[in-house]
Amino acid sequence: RYVASVKCMHGNITSRIFTTDASSKKQNSVGYKGHSMLAPFTAGWQSADLDPLIIAKSEGSYVYDIHGKKYLDSLAGLWCTALGGNEPRLVSAAVSQLNTLPFYHSFWNFTTKPSLDLAKELLDMFTANKMTKAFFTNSGSEANDTQVKLVWYYNNALGRPEKKKNYRKKHIYFQVIFHRYHGSTLVSASLSGIPGMHQKFDLPAPFMLYTDCPHYWRYHLPGESEEEFSTRLAKNLEDLIIKEGPETIGAFIAEPLMGAGGVIPPPATYFEKVQAVVKKYDILFIADEVICAFGRLGTMFGCDKYNIKPDLVSFAKALSSAYVPIGAVLMSQEVSDVIYSQSNKIGIFAHGFTYSGHPVSCAVAIEALKIYKERNIPEHVDRVASRFQDGLKAFSSSPIVGEIRGTGLILATEFTENKSPNEPFPPEWGVGEYFAAECQKHGMIVRVAGDAIMMCPPLIISPEEIDELISIYGKALKATEERVDELK
Ligand code: PLP
Repeated sequence: RYVASVKCMHGNITSRIFTTDASSKKQNSVGYKGHSMLAPFTAGWQSADLDPLIIAKSEGSYVYDIHGKKYLDSLAGLWCTALGGNEPRLVSAAVSQLNTLPFYHSFWNFTTKPSLDLAKELLDMFTANKMTKAFFTNSGSEANDTQVKLVWYYNNALGRPEKKKNYRKKHIYFQVIFHRYHGSTLVSASLSGIPGMHQKFDLPAPFMLYTDCPHYWRYHLPGESEEEFSTRLAKNLEDLIIKEGPETIGAFIAEPLMGAGGVIPPPATYFEKVQAVVKKYDILFIADEVICAFGRLGTMFGCDKYNIKPDLVSFAKALSSAYVPIGAVLMSQEVSDVIYSQSNKIGIFAHGFTYSGHPVSCAVAIEALKIYKERNIPEHVDRVASRFQDGLKAFSSSPIVGEIRGTGLILATEFTENKSPNEPFPPEWGVGEYFAAECQKHGMIVRVAGDAIMMCPPLIISPEEIDELISIYGKALKATEERVDELK
């Protein structure tokens, strides 16, 4: 039954993946098959018929499953355990705070020292634009939901309630790029451009607008340079804004480098051109730094790398190196001044979470930020990035690789026929999944999404671990090439 049900979903290739994975079978013996948890982003067959890979321990760039099998964690959890799996200073910061004050809230005029200190630290560290207030959330999704409410509140406070698309008008308000991921709450899932997150949930919410995906390899016209591609996208954006009415569009959201949506670095001059357009029409720019911040791209923030001057910024993930849940929003002087000065007139900024500024999360985040600075993590990333990028991009000549793209310590490989973005492999071959399963067999976890696989290792990864990562990638690629040959 186990194999048969997999075959229904993915055909022979996937059944081979899972039947060759010995550890998956062993897990039967510990009784988690058909477990009680509805796991995020699964279809029934994954949670009901297959055993989960149960991770039990982490150490540096590695994790171990409950049978003791070791994996190089090339995704850093979910793009987040920047400082690896057992940083004692983060553990001490949590324990010490738990022993002193495990919880107090930050509503009204109450708060705690760690939340105040973290707010100040973040504002000091982020220099791409002058930011003057921080708001804390528990996740990136909540941070992006907060952004939408901030923009609405800001425009209401300025006496222009029409500057959004849910005000007695039809849709649209945010510009979102196809396949971008901004979270999975109602609003952040709507900000995301992933069709599977909208279908069956009656999303997106009716105040979003979507524009071109800035993926040069996939969408450029014949003979079009990267700069020309960016010019065309910025022009399309401007046309869209004019068509919809600039007075009805509140903000534009973008990741500096699109992460979970496929690891798509922006084409040359993209942000320069897009920022000029949104500024011209008095539209706020929200930078979603949930993946890019704290060194991932070889700069402390993604905004530094691409010269982005945002009005609002979202953080989560590496903010605490994922040891405890926390997200944050930073706002510029202009936005926070309006909110402060107008709140007496239009009513309180009635938004917040029980755990906004949770002292344990804030204490861990403060320690994480100290480590990023003390160990100069962005510089380390910059130093090892070429080993990682060049080592993996050397596989670009493989006949099954369409594109390998990335920068810093983040990279994706897309498998296609004939190197063409327009010639995907038959989905039932499950090429991406096959590659990921081969990696797993050889002791490495990668993210797989269709025929794209993505890597985003802990920022502390050593040059030797990068070599190991490349070696496993090479073995998995060879096995996948052979399998594709068999299937042809
Ligand atoms: N924004 C980006 C860019 C993300 O990659 C993610 C998660 O992957 C989110 C927001 C949502 O964060 P969370 O899962 O913490 O809600």
